[in-house]
Formats: sequence, structure tokens, C-alpha cells
Amino acid sequence: MQTKANIQSIAPYQPGVWKEGAVKLASNENPLGSAPQALAAVQAKLSALNLYPDGGCARLRAALAEHYGKTPEYFLPGNGSDEIFHFITAAFVRPGEQVLTSTVTFSEYTFAARLFAGTVEYAPLADGKFQLAEIAKRVTPQTRVVFLANPNNPTGTYFTAAEFADFLRQIPEEVMVVSDEAYAEYVTAADYPDSLGLLERHKNLLITRTFSKIYGLAGLRVGYVMANPEVIAYLNKTREPFNVNALAQTAAAAALGDQEFVQKSRVNNEAGKKYLYAEFTRLGLKYFPTEANFIFVYIGQDCVAAFQKLMDKGVTVRPLKSFGISDALRVTIGTPEQNQKFIAALQEIL
Ligand SMILES: *Cc1c(COP(=O)(O)O)cnc(C)c1O
Repeated sequence: MQTKANIQSIAPYQPGVWKEGAVKLASNENPLGSAPQALAAVQAKLSALNLYPDGGCARLRAALAEHYGKTPEYFLPGNGSDEIFHFITAAFVRPGEQVLTSTVTFSEYTFAARLFAGTVEYAPLADGKFQLAEIAKRVTPQTRVVFLANPNNPTGTYFTAAEFADFLRQIPEEVMVVSDEAYAEYVTAADYPDSLGLLERHKNLLITRTFSKIYGLAGLRVGYVMANPEVIAYLNKTREPFNVNALAQTAAAAALGDQEFVQKSRVNNEAGKKYLYAEFTRLGLKYFPTEANFIFVYIGQDCVAAFQKLMDKGVTVRPLKSFGISDALRVTIGTPEQNQKFIAALQEIL
């Protein structure tokens, strides 16, 4: 077999571990389940699975357009945001050209770059935060795409509207800037960017969001990108004809109408956040304040060993070794009972 170096360089994705009977706080899934209206819509759709899905996702795009007060031409759904990152690198990165992001962030940006033989340059993270000025400094004529996670996974930190506006002003308009906002619905900070409002001024801006997190539909795989219609029409050329399955389309459109579930999820998240902050402080552990549904916490010991010990006690979390951090965990904010079980187990292993 004749292999390609860019494919050989890909490290397989390390998913969160699931163990029978354990409390899973490893993959930032919604602990309250799925939006009930989405589940009802899926039930109703089961009798039509002999039919191909709508390749154009017309209903979902219309629902997104209504939700955000834009036209459907601004939206393109994908088989999870992961697939959207592939659209973006397929569309913009030629072999040898550069993708720019930060250290200690979501691994899918690197994967998407490598898949299309792009090179990846990383600006260092500091205090758990993306350093937008450091990223801007690293833009070269070879740079095609910048991936920013806001809030960042695994640190939960965010950059502000002012920081983002300043950054966009420095980036040449032929460099595409991706704002990955998978956790946007959990954000409470008042100065979080209204990136949708920036689309008209910045034709090179792409915003990705997902139904995997607050809407509780990770198992169905559906995310979307918002950008100027010209960008969307171009990205649309890269996708498979039926990339979003019928159940996912139906569920996602219905989920947008279930803001009661979104609100309930936010309330649970805020309560869990407060509880976990207080417990980490009591245990003398440093953490990063989060705008997402997970918390990055330093535990003062090897994270892989701690992960094993916690799993033996019935709780799975994410050791951050694969992100290059040896002494920290990322824990999803769960239900009150799950959070308590996690803290009890953590206290025992410390
Ligand atoms: C979970 C997550 C996503 C969502 O991915 P999907 O493919 O939509 O499930 C995207 N970006 C980040 C940073 C994430 O943590």
C-alpha cells in the first residue's frame, strides 16, 4: 500500500470513555437527556425511513433562519460540526498551506487540516485562554484558515466581543476565520461576542454551532455553519448529497422550538457550576472559570492515574493528557447527584 504522509500523521481521535453503570462526565453531553420536542419529532419520522433525507435540509435551514432572524442562505448543516470543519479545510486549504489555531484546544481542527494535507501552526494558550494577538502575529501568506474555539474546549474560557472585533480587524480578508461556538448556548458572560452580528462586515467569518451539546442530540450528529451566502454556497459544493440523516434533520428543527429545555439545561448548568466551584475551592484545587458545560481543574497528580481511580469509583471524566496537560481533568457539569458522586470520588483519590 502506498500511503500519504498527511494521513499517516493523523493521531486517532480519543473519545470520552463510557463504562457500564458509571456516571459519564467525559464528553460534555447534556445530563438532562435530549430536548423532548426533538424526541417526539424523531418518533413521528420513524415510519418514513425508507425515504432518502432532504439533501438540501430545507426545513432545518428554514428553522435556523427563523431562530436567528436571517435567511436560509446563511446556514449549512453538517453531520456534526466535525463534518463542517472538513468542508472548510476541503474548500480552502491546498496541500502545504497553513491552518492556524491554539495549543490546548479541540483536536478536530488539526485533524481537518491534516486530512487535506495542510500544515498546522499553534499559538500558545495562556491562563487557559486563547491569545488572539499571538494568533494574529502568526498569520502568513500561507495561512488559509484560523480555528478559534469560543468558549474553548477543554478550558471553558472565552474571548470577549472587543477582543474578537480587534482580532478580525487584523486578519486579511482572504484568511477564513472560524468561530467554533459549540457551547454558545451555555454562555452567561455579557461581553461574549455577537458573532452573527459581525457577518455582514466580515465576509471571511464562519460560525459553527451544534445540536450535540445543549440540545442533547450528540448521538444523531448534526451541527451547522453560519456565514455569508457566497461562502455557504461554496462550502455546499464539498458535501455528500445526503450528509445529514433524516432523523437528525427532523430532531434538530424541532429542538430549536424547545427553548424550555434549553432554559432548563442552563439553569442546571449554572447550579452545578456554583457547586463545583465551591467544592474545588474547599479541596484547594485550581480551576478555570467556565462559560461552558464543563470545568478544567488541576488535581496536583497524574491525570491518567486519577482518571483510572475515578473510573474504578464509577465516574468517568476526561484526563487532559491528549491535550498536552498532565495534571488536570475536564469534567462535564452533570445533574446535582452526578456532581456529588464525582466530588465524593475525587475527594477520596486526592
Ligand atoms: C463538542 C464540540 C463540538 C461539537 O462537535 P459535533 O461534531 O457537532 O458533535 C465542536 N467543537 C467543540 C470545541 C466541541 O467541544
